[in-house]
Amino acid sequence: MLIDDFVNFVREAYNRPNGFIPLHEPVFNGNEKKYLNECVDSTFVSSVGKFVTEFENQVKEYTGSKHAIAASSGTAALHIALVLSEVKPGDEVITQPLTFVATANAISYTGASPIFIDVDRDTMGLSPEKLELFILNNTKPELNIQTNKVQPKNLSSGKFITAVIPMHTFGHPARIEEIKIICDKNNIILIEDAAESLGSYYKGKHTGTFGLFGTLSFNGNKTITTGGGGMLITDDDELAKKAKHITTTAKVPHPWEYVHDTIGYNYRLTNLAAALGVAQMEQLDSFVSSQRLLASEYQKFFENSGIQFVTENENTKANYWLNTVILKDREERNNFLKETNDRDIMTRPIWELMNRLDMFKEFQTGDLSNSEWLADRVVNITSSVRVNNSK
Ligand SMILES: *Cc1c(COP(=O)(O)O)cnc(C)c1O
Repeated sequence: MLIDDFVNFVREAYNRPNGFIPLHEPVFNGNEKKYLNECVDSTFVSSVGKFVTEFENQVKEYTGSKHAIAASSGTAALHIALVLSEVKPGDEVITQPLTFVATANAISYTGASPIFIDVDRDTMGLSPEKLELFILNNTKPELNIQTNKVQPKNLSSGKFITAVIPMHTFGHPARIEEIKIICDKNNIILIEDAAESLGSYYKGKHTGTFGLFGTLSFNGNKTITTGGGGMLITDDDELAKKAKHITTTAKVPHPWEYVHDTIGYNYRLTNLAAALGVAQMEQLDSFVSSQRLLASEYQKFFENSGIQFVTENENTKANYWLNTVILKDREERNNFLKETNDRDIMTRPIWELMNRLDMFKEFQTGDLSNSEWLADRVVNITSSVRVNNSK
């Protein structure tokens, strides 16, 4: 029976013959303790210390982004990206319904309304065709006096669409080049939610570097973790400076005076968290290759099984943050979830679609047939980085 084969496969792959196997647990196999001890010994655990800058430099270098600004969470990074994109109350922001709630929450923090547009079935990221179709059928270009740009005005709400946030689902890049072309053509700001895609590339360019901003997350379950944390990446010098300023309470530099020149946020990452981040970044390459090896083993395992294992799409390199299978229908999905969790192998369905959550169900959507199709069938399977790759 396939479920037992699957359970055996996972137990063997992780060399854990019995006991609970979580979906994605962090691995601390490098200099984590050493750097944390340095923080404690030096007393620099909070907002001052060398690790934040070092962590930012590593992310900059790794992603090829001109600037990287650390933040206290991925959600905070998204919020700041929207604030600096000057998304205002009364604006509308397009995102996908198939995402973690943070994306839609961050839009709400600005007072803007989300519009949910469908994903592609293969990438599970925002569909450029459906985005273009929505703009064509539901908006007309008009001068927005707030932004002084000709932007799509929503015919039903009378509001302007000022930003689009695609998400690179489970580390599989969305069709970001096509999305960018549509955004540029319509004067809409592109922000990439790359929380799940550190180590994922589209045509050789790191995810999160196509938009005006990209945002990363270092929550405990992500590819690398700082306990909790995030990062904003951008190529814009001026916006990068502003991002650093407003994530750190907008304090004007002075030897002793406390002057703050705008309403800022306490969104800074602590030196303690950044110390963890520096140690994790040192291992990122090995984490990603370990994940890709595991994915190739899963791919072989699921061949001819009747269950589809999601592999990377054309033009992309995926970090395989969460391995994904697609079951035949909702009933088979539920059965797979029950049988695996009953056997102590943690598996999870995809998030409840954003447009079905109480706080977002009043907002406009496009045709969501692909998101609904995926929501009925997608299951994430064991995806922790393996400490010891030899079976
Ligand atoms: C993890 C995640 C975030 C950010 O989460 P934080 O816990 O705030 O770091 C944002 N968007 C998506 C899609 C995520 O998966």
